[in-house]
Amino acid sequence: MNFSPHRSLLAATVLALSLIAAPAQAALRVFACEPEWAALTQALGGTLVEVSSATTALQDPHQIQARPSLIARMRNADLVVCTGAELETGWLPLLLQQSGNAKVQPGQPGNFAAADLVRKLEVPTTVDRSQGDVHAAGNPHIQTDPRNIAAVATGLASRLQQVDPPNAAQYAQQAAAFQQKWQQAMARWNTQAAPLRGQSVVSQHKAFAYLYDWLGLKEVAVLEPKPGVEPSAAHLQAVLATLKATPARMVISAVYQDAKPSEWLSGNAGVPAVRLPFTVGGNDAAKDLFSLFDDTVARLLAAGAGK
Ligand SMILES: [Zn+2]
Repeated sequence: MNFSPHRSLLAATVLALSLIAAPAQAALRVFACEPEWAALTQALGGTLVEVSSATTALQDPHQIQARPSLIARMRNADLVVCTGAELETGWLPLLLQQSGNAKVQPGQPGNFAAADLVRKLEVPTTVDRSQGDVHAAGNPHIQTDPRNIAAVATGLASRLQQVDPPNAAQYAQQAAAFQQKWQQAMARWNTQAAPLRGQSVVSQHKAFAYLYDWLGLKEVAVLEPKPGVEPSAAHLQAVLATLKATPARMVISAVYQDAKPSEWLSGNAGVPAVRLPFTVGGNDAAKDLFSLFDDTVARLLAAGAGK
């Protein structure tokens, strides 16, 4: 071998320069549609991801404006994490189209739909748009059941590994840590929430089907005459009449919804109105996915304990 000290010095210099010139490994840019998926991606990705949410807990996720700042964020995204199941049909397709970002289009690895990972409730046998803003793919509000969060976490962790292979081992490790902590939290919530089983409730919007399925709550009436249609005075009177025959323990709304219909029923039927955070950031207590469910269970128990 013709060893040349000069050549090896040159090689070392080139290597050093290239290391200096190489940009630090940029974080994976994630566009989440809702705060719960932003929180979950952050929990699974840690410092490997840079996450933003298109909506806040105080916005109705069915309908937001596809404003330019969101299009810009979508254009730069490496991964889009949304609910799917038609929740975002009013705005997401437009954002995707306007972004011109090929890697996050539906069917690409950069496009992740959480609802694909769970069994949907309330899937209509026939779709009739006259029935209001129906959820033809089933109820999309899957984040209200922590078992769904666990299922989505499994799928999302795999997807993060797929779109960012150099960091696959770290995603796997962080996902395992999350799942362990989540299973422990679910056991705690199951124990705490046991007294709620079988209680009858009224919902303002059909936003909590998965929560009720998990906790064994019974929805006896809905304040919206059709999904997405504001409760009318006549419909509220009809619900009030229903409650005479089938009493409920509480009336439940999400913080992004108008509080008035629930408050009206609460005052007239003499049952507590419960405002649930619905997602991360819905109130001061719901700072992450764990405290979201801590707060949700605590509010339901407080309302259910009263008479
Ligand atoms: Zn809905």
